[in-house]
Amino acid sequence: MFETLLPPEPDKILRLMAMFAGDPRPDKVDLGVGVYRSPEGRTPVMRAVKEAERRIWEAQETKSYVALTGDAAFLDAMRELILGDAVPAARVAAAGTPGGTAAVRQVLEMARRLTPEATVWMSDPTWPNHPAIADHLKQTRRTYRYYDTATGGLDREGMLADLAHAKKGDLILLHACCHNPTGADLAQADWAEIAAICARTGAIPFVDMAYLGFGDSLEEDAEGTRLLAARLPEVLIAASCSKNFGLYRERVGVVLVVTGEGGPTLAAQGTLANLNRQNYAFPPDHGARVVQTILGDATLRDDWRTELRAMRETMLGNRAALAEALRAETGSDRFGFLAAHRGMFSLIGATPAEVTTLRDTHGVYLVGDGRMNVAGLTAETIPKVARALAEVLARADAPA
Ligand code: PMP
Repeated sequence: MFETLLPPEPDKILRLMAMFAGDPRPDKVDLGVGVYRSPEGRTPVMRAVKEAERRIWEAQETKSYVALTGDAAFLDAMRELILGDAVPAARVAAAGTPGGTAAVRQVLEMARRLTPEATVWMSDPTWPNHPAIADHLKQTRRTYRYYDTATGGLDREGMLADLAHAKKGDLILLHACCHNPTGADLAQADWAEIAAICARTGAIPFVDMAYLGFGDSLEEDAEGTRLLAARLPEVLIAASCSKNFGLYRERVGVVLVVTGEGGPTLAAQGTLANLNRQNYAFPPDHGARVVQTILGDATLRDDWRTELRAMRETMLGNRAALAEALRAETGSDRFGFLAAHRGMFSLIGATPAEVTTLRDTHGVYLVGDGRMNVAGLTAETIPKVARALAEVLARADAPA
């Protein structure tokens, strides 16, 4: 059977990381890899996580299996964090998953099982793993317009016009906040328009929530998702605790299935348990237990929120400082969108050739599509990055 085995396509981000590591220039800047970095360049274990781990280590007496969908207290805490009181708990089925990636996979598997003919609508562009997983599951997918590269903002009209073609049972995949890779988010009025389209067409929103708390606040970042849950009978949610709890390698995620009033919550719960059983049996417990310990303790929860706010403010500060430095460099507001974007990423509108020049000539590393991780910036590197961007992305039509 191995004669048909092909060597794997080299992973672009891993290749970029290797190039960065091998670059001898002392002033090189890594704006590629998708993890949060503190002003000191670290991806820290959060204080509340350390303390929760200490408590778990002291109190835990068994590592025996928990439940196919994970610990009920974790699921309850995550439902509350994500949905607040937008819908009664009785309408929500939930399952723990190994990270947000597996949550996306389980949602798509559930949809494929229930409506194999459905189309999955994805923003153009989106996180590359969205189309990759849908293709692996042989699901039909289509893109909807999302990002206006000319303005660095949302292509609202294009998006709404494309989504109006969705059919009953189709999934509309949305990023809850901090859109990856563009950084351009939906306003509350856009969420309301999408809810109306779903109500009219019978399409079902599928919200990928990988950066809750990285945008404006835990509450504001969940507002769009809550609006959908309050207005529509069915909503699918895949959430990750990788970024907002800094638990990347522990693999903590959750699927929430919002069903209609008096709807089949139990059947949905059974389906999620069954999908977990087939794919990996039990979800990992350690990281989920850390999250549940933090959310269930007022002191740890407050400390986590404080540290999360500081991380968010670092990213917002980097955005404002880079936009300002670019204004000074270019004499224009062409890059003002950087300050309006939210989350770790912004698509800066660079061609692949410009990305190469930024790397080779200036030691500024971005992903090939021009995605920048603003968490990789520091007060020291912002002037250099602004100079490099202004020089390489100079446009004939831009004011001098
Ligand atoms: N969705 C999106 C949009 C993401 O950017 C990520 C993280 N890169 C994920 C889901 C899943 O992350 P993880 O599996 O690490 O929790």
